[in-house]
Amino acid sequence: MRLVSFVRDGRAGFGAIEGEGVRDVGAVMGPAYPDLRSVLADDEGLSRFREALPDAPRVDVSTVAWLPVIPNPSKIFCIGHNYEAHRVETGRPKTTFPAVFTRFAASQVGHDQEGWIPAESTDVDFEGELAVVIGRGGRRIARDQALAHVAGYACYDDLSVRDWQRHTSQFTPGKNFARTGAFGPWLVTADGIPDPQTLDLTTRVNGRVMQQANTAQMIFRVDELIAYCSTFTPLEPGDVIVSGTPGGVGVRRDPPIFLAPGDVVEVEITGIGILRTRMVAEPTA
Ligand code: ZN
Repeated sequence: MRLVSFVRDGRAGFGAIEGEGVRDVGAVMGPAYPDLRSVLADDEGLSRFREALPDAPRVDVSTVAWLPVIPNPSKIFCIGHNYEAHRVETGRPKTTFPAVFTRFAASQVGHDQEGWIPAESTDVDFEGELAVVIGRGGRRIARDQALAHVAGYACYDDLSVRDWQRHTSQFTPGKNFARTGAFGPWLVTADGIPDPQTLDLTTRVNGRVMQQANTAQMIFRVDELIAYCSTFTPLEPGDVIVSGTPGGVGVRRDPPIFLAPGDVVEVEITGIGILRTRMVAEPTA
């Protein structure tokens, strides 16, 4: 199944892609399930979702605006330099442990929406990544059990404001400007992706391929990331682990390539789909 979050007629909803359309499953699941995260959080949630699906209104995709797949995760972990080519291009030493930083839910944006270039920077860069969405929570999850805790997978563009990322050794400011965490287009449930380490990942800017890799090249694999993060904090349903970007980012090119208003960034992952973001200057109100 491909699960989506969206706004329709001014109301936030969720559902599933069916053919060329969407089933607005949230409209028939009742107040106990206000969003996709609440579906994942309930042991019965996904089976109730499947039961409700045939009765859910069919909606034309042209009538919805996509939200981040999980608009309100409790936690978003991002992993730094988790592909060897990207580690080398950033000049970082090999490490024993993954580099983990955090994003706030408020920095996210859905598929086919505007990504923002803030007034404070001209150094906004793309980072295509595989996002892992937690279904069953837990603390100190064993590596060999980790994939059973995954609800599904999506594409992510960890848009990075490079100058703000490098003000100090802490990434947080450069990774949390509004509308810089593109997350979509949907979540493919884990039954559709038995092995997350076999997926081709491609990032394009205005159709030109900028990053191309396979998730087999991750330094710390999805199961290790779940085990590591759940050791220091409990993972909860709807939490997101954004698993790192391959080589080819704009800032490490010669000359560097940064995103400008009008650019269109696509992150495509085999078995999932294409996440598209149109870059615009952040409106000053
Ligand atoms: Zn990243």
